[in-house]
Amino acid sequence: MIRNLVILVLLLIPTTLGVPQNAREGFSLAKADKLKPLETRLVQTIRPENCRSQHRIFTKEPHMAGSVRNYELAQYVAKQWKEYGLEDVQLIEHPVYLPWPIRYEATLVGSNEKLSLKEDPIPQDKDSYNKDVGIPYCAYSADVDVTAPVVYVNSGNPEDYDLLAQRGVDVRGKIALARYSMPYSYRGFKALTAQRHGVAALLLYSDPAEDGYKKGEVYPRGPWGPASHLQRGGIVYDFNLPGDPRTPGWASVRGGRFLPAESAVSMPTVAAAPMSYKDARRILEKMTGPSVPAEWRGGLPLTYRLGPTSDKLHLVIQNDKKVRSIWNVVGRLRGEERPDEWVVLGNHRDAWVFGGVDPSSGTATLMETARAFGELKRSGWKPRRTLIFASWDAEEFTLTGSTEWGELEAERLQAGALAYLNVDSSSSGSSFTAAAVPALAEFLREVARDVPHPSGGSIYDAWLRQTKDAKEPIVTTRLGSGSDYTVFLNFLGVPVADLTFDGPYGVYHSVYDSFNWVDRIGDPGYRYHAAMGRYWAVAALRLSECDYVPLDYAAYAQEVQRYLDETEQLARGLGVDVDLRPVRDAAKVWENNGRLALEVARKAVAAGDMARVERVHRGLMKVERALLDPEGLVGRPWFKHLIYAPRPTYKASVLPALTEAIEARDQSRVKLEVERLTRALKRASSAIEPGP
Ligand SMILES: [Zn+2]
Repeated sequence: MIRNLVILVLLLIPTTLGVPQNAREGFSLAKADKLKPLETRLVQTIRPENCRSQHRIFTKEPHMAGSVRNYELAQYVAKQWKEYGLEDVQLIEHPVYLPWPIRYEATLVGSNEKLSLKEDPIPQDKDSYNKDVGIPYCAYSADVDVTAPVVYVNSGNPEDYDLLAQRGVDVRGKIALARYSMPYSYRGFKALTAQRHGVAALLLYSDPAEDGYKKGEVYPRGPWGPASHLQRGGIVYDFNLPGDPRTPGWASVRGGRFLPAESAVSMPTVAAAPMSYKDARRILEKMTGPSVPAEWRGGLPLTYRLGPTSDKLHLVIQNDKKVRSIWNVVGRLRGEERPDEWVVLGNHRDAWVFGGVDPSSGTATLMETARAFGELKRSGWKPRRTLIFASWDAEEFTLTGSTEWGELEAERLQAGALAYLNVDSSSSGSSFTAAAVPALAEFLREVARDVPHPSGGSIYDAWLRQTKDAKEPIVTTRLGSGSDYTVFLNFLGVPVADLTFDGPYGVYHSVYDSFNWVDRIGDPGYRYHAAMGRYWAVAALRLSECDYVPLDYAAYAQEVQRYLDETEQLARGLGVDVDLRPVRDAAKVWENNGRLALEVARKAVAAGDMARVERVHRGLMKVERALLDPEGLVGRPWFKHLIYAPRPTYKASVLPALTEAIEARDQSRVKLEVERLTRALKRASSAIEPGP
């Protein structure tokens, strides 16, 4: 009786969301209480020292997608998962277009100086002497053999080329030297821009102002990139189409249907390659012409000039055009009550070299998280829903492994996936960062309250301290692209979250992103690896066990209304007529239904009316799917989500179909897109229509 009284009192204390204190969205109080010891167990089982020993295994050798080593690691993952007690552990093969480098040479013709194009070994990091590091390259680059002067194009964005044109510098047929920009802009966008301007080839170099000595101590003394470090990476246009370019929208399987790769909308026709500032400096020193505007200056002690160089560069880039097998590893803990409802945890395994942070910190975390769930199962716990653990291959190429699996399992994922929780790089520092659809934001904050942060207190406390002037920790809801959640969100309409601990990190995609970097600099003691594992595990457990999925669509609808304001402003600025009233009305109804759905579910769960809880749960599961339109975006039909899509820079475009119609000043298209968006929001709100 007293207990019931306490519950009643607690129910009357509202918080910001209207969830009574102690209650947890998605759960009855009794169930949330029952879950606590399980959460404690997961937290205690996940150990930093285990993360460290796993991390050493994955970072011992280079393991690029398609390599023997990465296949061996797939086998290792499978073997471990079986030992942990995971079920149905499979290596799933996908034959995909996966070119590797054959030649990369650059010679200054006049001085006959051959650039090194290699990263120098560092005595403090034995792995940097490894003989299998391979030729640095940009995946999906075109081939080139050209002798031409070089021009400096700053970050290689469209406005940079505009400035060069104004200054009378002709880039056509020349080699463009661009620096990687921080904050990060996807290198594929630089390639596309270079391609549009008719350059002969693009060299992407790491300027010390961005990730080198201008930032602080360089490796091995600090986290930043030393003189010869260079950033490998794909330049594929996967903002048009991720995954195997030969199978847009369906999975690549042996004996399946394939289109020619060359004609895919994701294939660059320009050649590009990465370079260190140690090499780029030799070119920059030979630049003639006027000095650059102040914002274009990098951190090297020389006068940056627009170019062209006084000396020509002979550049050879050649890749094979091979199809190679990649291997996802998928294992599960089958749900006792609801085997067809899935919670998916994923991380990619392939790395450009050793992948110290990217992705092996995440892989080590995934292994330890899977082990902890195995232990929990051994202690007698049975998951209510199915937990799926996935080790993706070839993320670095074009999000390939996750995309092919998502396409393969599309039907089952769309019928039953509650959420996809992605961890790519788990730990390069101590700042917790979460990106997710707005419906999951509050859930992610709730989980953070109950997971300890290595510096003391909860992850929530530390996360809140990171965000100045905010009342609550900020979840990035504008989802672009750049990791394995893309297929789940943009193609399948599954709610996604992407999690990481961030920090100063200047060795991204270089040979120095190694075990030693993480062990000595990024996360000594592996406490953040463990914290991420604990967070990931508690989040997955809650989704697996909840009475109804805690998706907050009132928050989502409010967010969409902010996007509508922005879109209206954009249209006004461009002089485009747009009447957003129908979408706004639909968004309001959606917001209302989202709020009601959770209110109904809370009451029903408290009253033990499980039939009603179930109705709400089923509705909530359909909402993200309802935001897809089968026709997709204009020119890139694979992208079906009408609220989010990546821009070519990987930054998020919100309301992409409508925004693009406005930007194109296509009045009739604008009208159609308003209708399409209105229908999507109506579908979303009718999925959670309050019932009798
Ligand atoms: Zn990664």
